[in-house]
Amino acid sequence: MKEVRVRFAPSPTGFLHVGGARTAIFNWLFAKNQKGKFLLRIEDTDPERSRGELSEQILRSMRWLGMDSDEPIVYQALNISRHREIAIELLNRGKAYYAFETTEELEAQRKEANAAKRPFKYNRASLKLDKETVDKYIAEGKPYAIRFKVTDGVTEFEDIVHGTTTFKNSEIDDFVLLRSDGTPVYQLAVVVDDNDMNITHVIRGDDHLSNTPKQILLYRAMDWEVPLFAHLPMILDEEKKKLSKRRNPVSVEEYKQNGYLSEALFNFLTLLGFAPPLLKGTESAPVDSSNEKQEIVSMEDLENMFTFDRVNKKSAVFDMKKLGWINSEYIKKTEPAVLLPQIKEVISRLEIQFAETSENENLIFNVISLMKERVQTVNEFVTYGKYFFEDPVTYDEKGMLKHWTTEIKEHFVSYTNELNSITPWSADILEQHLREYAEKCGLKAGQLVHPLRLALTGQSVSPGIFEVMMVLGKKTTIKRISGFTSQNPR
Ligand code: GLU
Repeated sequence: MKEVRVRFAPSPTGFLHVGGARTAIFNWLFAKNQKGKFLLRIEDTDPERSRGELSEQILRSMRWLGMDSDEPIVYQALNISRHREIAIELLNRGKAYYAFETTEELEAQRKEANAAKRPFKYNRASLKLDKETVDKYIAEGKPYAIRFKVTDGVTEFEDIVHGTTTFKNSEIDDFVLLRSDGTPVYQLAVVVDDNDMNITHVIRGDDHLSNTPKQILLYRAMDWEVPLFAHLPMILDEEKKKLSKRRNPVSVEEYKQNGYLSEALFNFLTLLGFAPPLLKGTESAPVDSSNEKQEIVSMEDLENMFTFDRVNKKSAVFDMKKLGWINSEYIKKTEPAVLLPQIKEVISRLEIQFAETSENENLIFNVISLMKERVQTVNEFVTYGKYFFEDPVTYDEKGMLKHWTTEIKEHFVSYTNELNSITPWSADILEQHLREYAEKCGLKAGQLVHPLRLALTGQSVSPGIFEVMMVLGKKTTIKRISGFTSQNPR
């Protein structure tokens, strides 16, 4: 059997969009499942809109998601002379023709069509020119485009996702292959490159469905083998509208910055159109009756189970809550050592003064084990747990009014003194000590716990206070309580 060869072909006119990443993932999973090749091609033929740094960004996001190209990356702009050669070949085969209309003339045709409320279609005036006139125009240096001559009939193909798909050729314009400045248009470049790269399956978004008949006509005109096509359903937001950056982040880079793990985003994006079968229970996806659909699936399992039979035709909804849940599940099972550098990066991005010491590294590990069941993103370790990394500067006002009394202030001084002699500094011992202290003084434990939380975190909510004390360590705990007591008169 022929080796499966697929490609992901982004245009470097923007960052890697989550929709693009989903297309890349389906290509990648199919290639891996079929033991084939996954290739990357940067479609940079549009010099005005393509930018080198955007290609770099896209490649960085692809690498972050764990998808490398199995062969050297193809830069489409380097193939322009080959695209021109094929346009000329199509002319020689009588499948294409010179078109001499100026932009203004075409604009006038378009306006006329609009006024008559009919879709614009090039009127083929240049096709009617005789050979002498064409030669004369060329000799005179009149600018021309090369257009494809669309034949009569219908173009039909078996889309792997949508099934039999038919287009009437009468609805297809004689599209441009080469512009008058000699640059190839997408339809030509994509077919030439896919052919030259021996692509067997073109897997891309639904928005390219209407390009497919044009491309099939080109393959046939060149007597090239037509690849198979799979068009993936659109991704909509929760309001069933096209994903828009006004509502949610749309670039992969932003999700990374916002503290999503690459494996979680990969898993989530796969579920936008692919329904994993129920697993028998593997290490990465243990059987859990509350998660019947088995939505947490590792890259490796996805590779093994991927098939287009389980790809939905209908559009998929990008559900941020579900992404949050999937991310939290991945955070729970990720090794703390893997989270450490990411947390450090967030600390430095937020400009928190936090020295690179082994003691501090230890503190981060303790924060991870205390908070990993509570956060949805890596950033939340730092934003929810900011007080672990720097002293609080303000204290929740409502909490202060309720819990900070003269009586408690006095107790804080003697309680803090007693803390000095506590060893070992563990949550259990701290809890036992506080309860005994409260009882001895005729207080309820809560009367001490609430203000302690304020003193140590600045907040009225936090994980268990004894765990917080343990993570902060004896020195910081005592320093914060003493600072708080002397700063806050009562
Ligand atoms: N460069 C095109 C895009 O970014 C690729 C289309 C295709 O896969 O054929 O949409």
